[in-house]
Amino acid sequence: MSAPAKSLNFIEHIIEEDLKNGFPKEKLRFRFPPEPNGYLHIGHASSICLNFGLGLQYNAPVNLRYDDTNPTKEEQEYVDAIKRDVEWLGFQWDTECYASDYFQQLYDWAVDLIKMGKAYVDSQSSEEMAQQKGTPTEPGTNSPYRDRSVEENLRLFEGMKNGDFEEGTHVLRAKIDMASTNMLMRDPIMYRVLHKAHHRTNTDWCIYPMYDWTHGESDYIEQITHSLCTLEFLPHRELYDWFLDQVVDPEKVRPKQREFARRNLSHTVVSKRKLLRLVEDGIVNGWDDPRMPTISGLRRRGYTPESIRNFSDTIGIAKRENVVDVSLLEFHIREHLNKIDSRVMAVLNPVKVVITNYPEGEEEWLHSENNPEDESAGTRKIPFSREIYIEQEDFREQANRKFFRLKLGGEVRLKNAYIIKAESCTKDENGNITEIQCTYDPKSKSGSGTEESLRKVKGTLHWVSIPHAVPAEVRLYDRLFTDPTPDGHKDKDFMEFLNPESLKTITAYLEPSLASAVPGDRFQFQRLGYFNVDLDSQPGSLVFNRTVTLRDTWAKLEQQK
Ligand code: ATP
Ligand code: MG
Repeated sequence: MSAPAKSLNFIEHIIEEDLKNGFPKEKLRFRFPPEPNGYLHIGHASSICLNFGLGLQYNAPVNLRYDDTNPTKEEQEYVDAIKRDVEWLGFQWDTECYASDYFQQLYDWAVDLIKMGKAYVDSQSSEEMAQQKGTPTEPGTNSPYRDRSVEENLRLFEGMKNGDFEEGTHVLRAKIDMASTNMLMRDPIMYRVLHKAHHRTNTDWCIYPMYDWTHGESDYIEQITHSLCTLEFLPHRELYDWFLDQVVDPEKVRPKQREFARRNLSHTVVSKRKLLRLVEDGIVNGWDDPRMPTISGLRRRGYTPESIRNFSDTIGIAKRENVVDVSLLEFHIREHLNKIDSRVMAVLNPVKVVITNYPEGEEEWLHSENNPEDESAGTRKIPFSREIYIEQEDFREQANRKFFRLKLGGEVRLKNAYIIKAESCTKDENGNITEIQCTYDPKSKSGSGTEESLRKVKGTLHWVSIPHAVPAEVRLYDRLFTDPTPDGHKDKDFMEFLNPESLKTITAYLEPSLASAVPGDRFQFQRLGYFNVDLDSQPGSLVFNRTVTLRDTWAKLEQQK
């Protein structure tokens, strides 16, 4: 039986329609066009997966195009980070392109527009121009400079380019229609004077083209067939087409702009501008802080490229904006890590257990499978001794029948080891339990095949031998914002919803096989969650991140509210 055909999304339908109407498949070409003004986030991952996914599906090239027309906000650091992130997600671009490489061509076309009487230099202040814009229901007013002669426009535009004018003194505007029902068509600005060095063109230019003038023409220069952008650009499409009309050669591909809905993720913000604020205000430790919804933050947190691609593919693309719950992203990373991570034992919140009938000074090395989901992951040895740590939460002096962990007089199995029974415990003056005394059943060793080893007890606990334990810093992360849509409140700034407990740092005790773990290594800490070694980790002073808990504890908390 063949697999059911995957249903096409609306962008694929548009492409299929074009192919049916005779557009040659070999001419298909896509692009992913980030502005290098910040690090890519999980919203961009949707756009990357969409564009590069189409490239793979249609065997068509995909360009990585930097939309770098605003030198006040753009930096080489961001250019490099974007490349790293797209590559890490597993995609390969055909050509690395920069809108700034087209500055000369764009300038020449602008000169042509002036010559055709379709662009003019306006010498009013931005306030004056704003006053003439009109409203969606009232037409705007023509600028007093609208009818400048071609010669004067050419002279002034050249002066703008040559650096003869201060910022804000002149702009170049397209001469379209001040009464258009689309406000964007009311003589949009094409160029402004900016005496700022650009990260690539340095001081070659002191006029910079605006987004609308740049984007469509860049698509045309690169012969992009389908220029996919987010919904806020829908009203720009008319202008995109108008600008193309001025330059398109009918023999060549005419790009099409089509829009899809921006993806938002709950309990975070997906906007480079807002994320920059978190970085600049020191709320997080940089763009790759593991709490950030950036690709680099997710990578550092222990997310895999596969999990992000699967997440993006599952949510697909939509025509209407919505918020995807972050627990869906977490579902995908759990699902992947469950397959690939080795299981190890670590205790986050330790209490000491002394096994009183286990000989002092003795140790033994027990066998454990690394991953029950993957036999090829092999086995390793873990030491057992008279003194071990278990989690504080795993012991109670008294508990009802539903408590399957350790209680006085009760038995549990220590994972991969023996059955123990709690006999007594010691407390400090505040009533905190400082030590639990247990006995073990020497014949109950896991895997030994004895009758006792097969005896069923209700609970199985993870543990770590104290003399062999390796201490490590463990960073436990929670949602960065307490509100599901922190930037969705009209009267409140998103920063008001910051979760003060988004990072908790503890010292945990790990089984000794982890002593040699290096940044990037991932593990399932049994019964606790998925963890990876952080970039800050050093031999002898290990640092781990909790990527995600084993189960969705947040959903449980929400239900209890
Ligand atoms: P931001 O507001 O975060 O800066 P942007 O749209 O200005 O986002 P760009 O660098 O211009 O960022 O985006 C590159 C591409 O990624 C664009 O095609 C844009 O539409 C798309 N994109 C950005 N954010 C999202 C999102 N949340 N969901 C889907 N696509 C997105
Ligand atoms: Mg932007």
